[in-house]
Amino acid sequence: MKLGIVGLPNVGKSTLFNAITQAGAESANYPFCTIDPNIGVVSVPDKRLDVLAGIYGSEKILPTAIEFCDIAGLVKGASKGEGLGNKFLSHIREVESIVHVVRCFEDPNVVHVDGCIGPLRDIETINLELIFSDLDMIEKRIQKTQKLSKSDKSLVSELELLNRIKDTLESDKCARTMDLSDDEAEIVKSLNLLTFKPVIYAANVSEDDLADDGENNENVAVVREYAKTEDAEVVVVCAQIEAEISELEEDEKKAFLEDLGLAESGLDKLIKAGYSLLGLISFLTAGPKETRAWTVKMGSKAPQAAGRIHTDFERGFIRAEVVAFDDISREGSMNAAKDKGLVRVEGKEYIVNDGDVMLFRFNV
Ligand code: GDP
Repeated sequence: MKLGIVGLPNVGKSTLFNAITQAGAESANYPFCTIDPNIGVVSVPDKRLDVLAGIYGSEKILPTAIEFCDIAGLVKGASKGEGLGNKFLSHIREVESIVHVVRCFEDPNVVHVDGCIGPLRDIETINLELIFSDLDMIEKRIQKTQKLSKSDKSLVSELELLNRIKDTLESDKCARTMDLSDDEAEIVKSLNLLTFKPVIYAANVSEDDLADDGENNENVAVVREYAKTEDAEVVVVCAQIEAEISELEEDEKKAFLEDLGLAESGLDKLIKAGYSLLGLISFLTAGPKETRAWTVKMGSKAPQAAGRIHTDFERGFIRAEVVAFDDISREGSMNAAKDKGLVRVEGKEYIVNDGDVMLFRFNV
């Protein structure tokens, strides 16, 4: 499950990506992060881990991680093969969600490919390339389905849906703006369209615009307005500052952010937003040795969660003891939570919640 970073040249993608790789994750846990230079693995910030580690007196804290993929090089005309066009588009096809970086900072020393700052034009330029690429694919699919539907009437409704997607794309709108039933959304998802992938817009601002979250930057306002039409989230970052922050130790980072009047770095906000955009949640395990966060897809059942820790745990799953993080943190210990009846015994069908503190019982 990866997020792909896209955007026009010179908007701050590599600066942001460098911040991500520098911030990094415990590399011992993620040996794959050194393999591909375009993939950055970064820890998912989770304050709950500190609290739990305090309760259990854990020696170590192990956050979970998320992957970002740097998809540099998308330019106007990519869908027609400009630049390395189609290659970049195929990279986007491989990621589950997109971080679209939009330049909202003024800096006469950094040239803009179109000569001036224009967030709306920039967003539309990139999205149009993705739309063209999707349109190409949908047209081929329509032709094929049209032929097949002559003998297979069950394809008629699919054909109708494909034509609706085509109409949307032809009016320069992303497929994710469509009003779809749950069933239709499943079908559209299976087509792996670029413009149906969930997106976060990262408004890259200058340092001065950080303290008020870009409220006084009219470029950010434009991004927010556009994002609203897609129900997409906007995260305000200053890539340059993020790159500086990512070189600091944890306590220095805190002081630095306080100086800027910020509770949280833009990168941390982006990581969290990306994690939930991917439909991922964390369950937690804790003990004297380590407190750790683990990633599962939202809707996963207890045995799958157990399988994240070890495949044997999934195979031999018997039951899980579960307490919500809020409950154990309020009560101050597992025993206190048990006394209040807040620790539940759950079976194979239990659907894991974000922040569940879990202990698995299994046969080996
Ligand atoms: P990319 O082509 O989108 O990957 O853009 P880069 O990350 O290479 O950035 C292009 C230029 O903009 C570089 O000179 C960066 O130092 C500069 N830059 C990136 N982010 C910021 C920012 O937040 N503020 C300012 N002033 N410059 C930035």
